[in-house]
Amino acid sequence: MIKKEIIINTEEEYAKFKKKLWLYRSWLYCFVSFNISGKVREKELKDFETALNIKNDKKRTRFIYDRACKFIDEYNDAHCICCEYHDSICEDPKHQKMKNGCCWYCHLQTNTGCPSRNLACKLFFCDHMWEKHHPLTAKDIDILLMFSPSRRAIARENTFVTEETFLRQLDIGSYGLMCIYSITKLFRFKNL
Ligand code: SF4
Ligand code: SF4
Repeated sequence: MIKKEIIINTEEEYAKFKKKLWLYRSWLYCFVSFNISGKVREKELKDFETALNIKNDKKRTRFIYDRACKFIDEYNDAHCICCEYHDSICEDPKHQKMKNGCCWYCHLQTNTGCPSRNLACKLFFCDHMWEKHHPLTAKDIDILLMFSPSRRAIARENTFVTEETFLRQLDIGSYGLMCIYSITKLFRFKNL
């Protein structure tokens, strides 16, 4: 393995590094071991270093998915961003006729909640929540830059599926196929 050392000490250097990620994650760097350090964004740099040093595509995808889910969960916990329910009716006035808010027609929901860890669902919030909390968008999650543009689009939009299906679709990496699958899902929504 060839070793590559990257040192990032300012936000400007961090922004430049993010712009070069498309190259670092490409096959051109498949025999390169990264050592990334610096004085800013230490947590993010460690995640990028780990992701870039995972050369197996499936394992890398799972690492990125896991880190993105954790990032959203930690942000939402720290900023108290969470949907509130009273007797299974959520606080959004537009959704008060349906049980379980915007999950109301998902075939995956159970009496004990959602059995999936779905990245796109974690990012989804209704207008009511947007006005109240200003939650994260996919653009705020830097580790998603390790994905190609079509994988990023899947990560943003692939709601209503199990984590296993989500990861399979990321492995395939086709946004078009994900859209076709989304249309077939409509026939399985239980309350439509
Ligand atoms: S995002 Fe909005 S509609 Fe969905 S459960 Fe939360 S408050 Fe209800
Ligand atoms: S997969 Fe998404 S839409 Fe379905 S129950 Fe879980 S959070 Fe709700």
